[in-house]
Amino acid sequence: MRITILGSGTSTGVPYLNCTCEVCRSADPRDARLRCSALVEVQGKTLLIDCGPDFRQQMLHRPTPAIDAVLLTHEHYDHVAGIDDLRPYGDVDIYGEERVCQAVRRNLPYCFAETHYPGTPHLHLHTIGLTPFEAAGVNVQPIRCYHAQLPIVGYRVGPMAYLTDISRIDDDQFPLLENLEVLIVDALRQTPHFSHFMLSEAQDFAKRTGAKRVYFTHICHQMGIYADVEPSLPDNQQLCYDGMEIVIGE
Ligand SMILES: [Zn+2]
Ligand SMILES: [Zn+2]
Ligand SMILES: [Zn+2]
Repeated sequence: MRITILGSGTSTGVPYLNCTCEVCRSADPRDARLRCSALVEVQGKTLLIDCGPDFRQQMLHRPTPAIDAVLLTHEHYDHVAGIDDLRPYGDVDIYGEERVCQAVRRNLPYCFAETHYPGTPHLHLHTIGLTPFEAAGVNVQPIRCYHAQLPIVGYRVGPMAYLTDISRIDDDQFPLLENLEVLIVDALRQTPHFSHFMLSEAQDFAKRTGAKRVYFTHICHQMGIYADVEPSLPDNQQLCYDGMEIVIGE
């Protein structure tokens, strides 16, 4: 399995517009973060987790003949605003909770009109619950997460779990996160936030799952300079950066 971090940034991206902090001015490409998304290649299939406003830019110069399924975590703009740009991939199956599917229909009514408007994307929405489902023949386990009060989902695919925009999880979800090789989890910054884990919370959470390797994503400019923060992390933990590839079992 190969996971490519297409974007590791929070909803605003980094640099934050008009900000002159040292992170936003950094010349290190690892400090420039597009909106949060990942590509998962497994069993000969390509799954996209979230499709934000930077999707087109993220896929430029990244030949990917097919996107076999799109897994949506929730309906916030930074996770769904790129869906119209899925057009070049033909018929696309999109999976999300009922509320999320409704939001996609509302955002892109012309894609779901009775008479299909020529040239618009062919999207097939699939409503999921919290039980495992198959996306392009790949088994996917949804994980219930809370983004402040909003119930959203993270996804486990085999030995990998991807949990973004999370500030809380119920105890009954931990058994679904056993024996992880890789955990990719939200860590916004180093100070508390109402709807995201801060770094120390993400680290405590990761420890409780027992995941072997941990990668932090959905990072904002207040995390600090990559080259400063990275050395402070334990050996099995890493900050994501855009374009990072995580390989399992090859
Ligand atoms: Zn987000
Ligand atoms: Zn800044
Ligand atoms: Zn969000």
